[in-house]
Amino acid sequence: MSLHGGASNLSLTQQATVCHTILREVFGYPEFRGPQQAIIEHVAGGGDALVLMPTGGGKSLCYQIPALARQRAGQGVTIVISPLIALMHDQVGALAEAGVSAAFLNSSLSGEEAALVEKRLLRGDITLLYAAPERLTTPRFLAQLDALFERGGLALFAIDEAHCVSQWGHDFRPEYRALTVLHERFGTVPRIALTATADTLTRADIIERLQLQAARLFVSSFDRPNIRYTIVEKKDATQQLMRFISQEHTGDAGIVYCQSRRRVEEVAQLLCDEGIDALPYHAGLDGRVRQANQDRFLRSEGIVMVATIAFGMGIDKPDVRFVAHLDMPKNIEGYYQETGRAGRDGAAADAWMCYGLQDVVNQRRMIDESPAGEEFKQGLRGKLDALLGLAEATDCRRVRLLAYFGEASQPCGNCDNCLQPPDVWDGTDAARKLLSTVYRVQQMGGISYGAGHIMDILRGKVTDKVTQRGHERLSTFGIGAELTEVQLRGVLRQLIAIGAVAVDAEAFNTLQLTDASRAVLKGEVAVRLRQSVSTPGQRKLKSKRGTAAAPLPATLDADGQSRYLALKAWRAEVAREHNLPAYVIFHDATLLAIAELAPHSLDELQGVSGIGAKKLEAYGQEVLRVVVAA
Ligand code: ADP
Ligand code: ZN
Repeated sequence: MSLHGGASNLSLTQQATVCHTILREVFGYPEFRGPQQAIIEHVAGGGDALVLMPTGGGKSLCYQIPALARQRAGQGVTIVISPLIALMHDQVGALAEAGVSAAFLNSSLSGEEAALVEKRLLRGDITLLYAAPERLTTPRFLAQLDALFERGGLALFAIDEAHCVSQWGHDFRPEYRALTVLHERFGTVPRIALTATADTLTRADIIERLQLQAARLFVSSFDRPNIRYTIVEKKDATQQLMRFISQEHTGDAGIVYCQSRRRVEEVAQLLCDEGIDALPYHAGLDGRVRQANQDRFLRSEGIVMVATIAFGMGIDKPDVRFVAHLDMPKNIEGYYQETGRAGRDGAAADAWMCYGLQDVVNQRRMIDESPAGEEFKQGLRGKLDALLGLAEATDCRRVRLLAYFGEASQPCGNCDNCLQPPDVWDGTDAARKLLSTVYRVQQMGGISYGAGHIMDILRGKVTDKVTQRGHERLSTFGIGAELTEVQLRGVLRQLIAIGAVAVDAEAFNTLQLTDASRAVLKGEVAVRLRQSVSTPGQRKLKSKRGTAAAPLPATLDADGQSRYLALKAWRAEVAREHNLPAYVIFHDATLLAIAELAPHSLDELQGVSGIGAKKLEAYGQEVLRVVVAA
């Protein structure tokens, strides 16, 4: 089939056919996903676009296929602007595996290597060129773009991670501001900007900063149906994490987020002691160590990365099977970005968080102590409250998450609350008892006390502290005897979450009443609480800890399983030779499909999702050989 030549004025149907052919032939996928088709056809046809799609939604194809279509139509090279220098090598490698001519220009290249890329660029030999924004605005590179532009050789600009242009986003990069040069200097070249950051403030900022007012806006659903959300109450966080991993994710790749660098180191060590292959990642590590750990995570199987939020942007490893939060993030945006790194391949994945009283206290304190203005702090508190609401929710987590992003939905059937509806109890009365104890104690001696002592009084425990202070004489002594400590902690968490109790960090974390306490005391605010469950659910136990290998897919029979293992071993070998992550060669899902199919000919192999023409040619025979020998 010939799609080459200068036919730049394809009809819309022709355009659509070209794009679908590229999807099948180059990437080996039978169908577009979600809004990909509309976006791709619009951009391939020369339109500007702003694409908001969740992590794992499939943004890359949204510019890669138009790049190929426009290149084939003789319109030249697509320039991809990305802040992620450390990942460009793998991105370009992945395209090369699919038979696409791609390259990158960044500070990791030597002068000679860069000169070689520039030569290829000017010769028109490159379909996609990845460059960091600071490279784009150098006089040297601009002059080269000018030259290409003059002869109609600039097909498209793709601005990845477009939220980096906004101060409201969490990854502001001042260099992104200079990208207005694209519009000013090369106004006729189409542009597509992409991001997974959804909130309206950031969106408006991107449009203004990048002057995309005339661009078509594509907003996808933010749902990630294959991710199961679970939020458990924190008891002994690391033990809970270990149980979660050993019961449900032995041998799987995952990410564990912690708040502090110290905690990252600690948890990584603990996991290693338990025989789990874990690595630390945080901004305090030496740059080389960080890069090496990231490479191992991407290239090896089954690594658990324990990290601060410094880790993650642009990590496109598709087979991350779980994201765990040992500490609560700041807001739902952060939580959603981070959990979104699980299950990009569409297979089942877990987002697991464990949270407790201390998280609420810490987050509130960080806001209170930040130097920001009161109005800004109020905004932060509102965002934190929304996340607390999610954590304490007794109904579907996904409905709440999506509602936060402005999407209405029905209970999902794939979150902890849907799968195992929690028992709910009315904590209004308990909350009033707790608040009046805080009040009485303060009234009696003029000083406040921490949560432990207050709960002892409520439950009528005669401790030394109680008798020394004469607190057994309080009218509230023992009025909460029927409540367990766990229940009371739940009540307290909820009270702190709604601001009806303040925790004074300056004074030994003592509890204080606030303006909002009154309404609760008067019984005007109902407090509904989830009954604590001590185990995260009754999900089937998988293999015991200590077996390092990932569990084999249950859908395969014994022969299929040995084919799958043989294919994985073969893939690991190829990936090593090519210095690329294994998933760049073939996704797990593709290997699984091959193992199931047990193909005998290239024809049979061709239909498998994820095998494009180039990969069929490069690996087809070998794959058949591996399948037969297994
Ligand atoms: P994003 O950049 O939006 O986070 P990616 O572009 O990395 O997502 O895509 C996520 C995964 O989904 C990738 O592994 C990609 O190969 C796969 N994918 C994308 N589009 C399709 C499709 N139409 N069919 C099958 N797999 C797809
Ligand atoms: Zn649900």
